[in-house]
Amino acid sequence: MKESNSKKKKEFKELNSEEVKTLAEKELDEYFMFLAIEESKKANKVDSAFSVGAILILKNEKTILTRGFSREIKEINMGNTHAEECCFIKFKSMKEFEILKEKELAIFSTMEPCGKRLSGNKSCSEIILQYNVKRVVIGLREPDNFIKQTEGYDLLCANNIIVDYLDGFEDLCMESNSHLKKKI
Ligand SMILES: [Zn+2]
Repeated sequence: MKESNSKKKKEFKELNSEEVKTLAEKELDEYFMFLAIEESKKANKVDSAFSVGAILILKNEKTILTRGFSREIKEINMGNTHAEECCFIKFKSMKEFEILKEKELAIFSTMEPCGKRLSGNKSCSEIILQYNVKRVVIGLREPDNFIKQTEGYDLLCANNIIVDYLDGFEDLCMESNSHLKKKI
């Protein structure tokens, strides 16, 4: 891991919306990734899935819409919800959803959105494609613990979504998954 990111993480604190606007492009990306990492820590650790955090933002306004983490929303018949999925469930229930859904969105996730789910539920990449998401920023490609050939990255790219891998965040994004590390 880049030493600087580890140090920055220790000094990380949440900013108000005015302070966020003063950040340069690269700092903003890192800021939202740090927030996603914070979300990932809230997930219940299980042996059968990763703990992921995600932040959904308005791409151009740089404002946060929703946050989500793995298994956060428990609804009957939904199975285990994923971080990105939780972001969109919350987004859909926002009062301003009808207006906001027309705007360009970006989502930050500690891990590559899944392209396939063992449960048969819609994958996060498929969910992302249902919305006006233009950019996906990830801290980590999906390790092959559960799905041997991940497809999320390719599916998103094939649909003209910019997928940016943020360099130097892998270890921080894996921290919430240290109990799975033996397999990774
Ligand atoms: Zn997923």
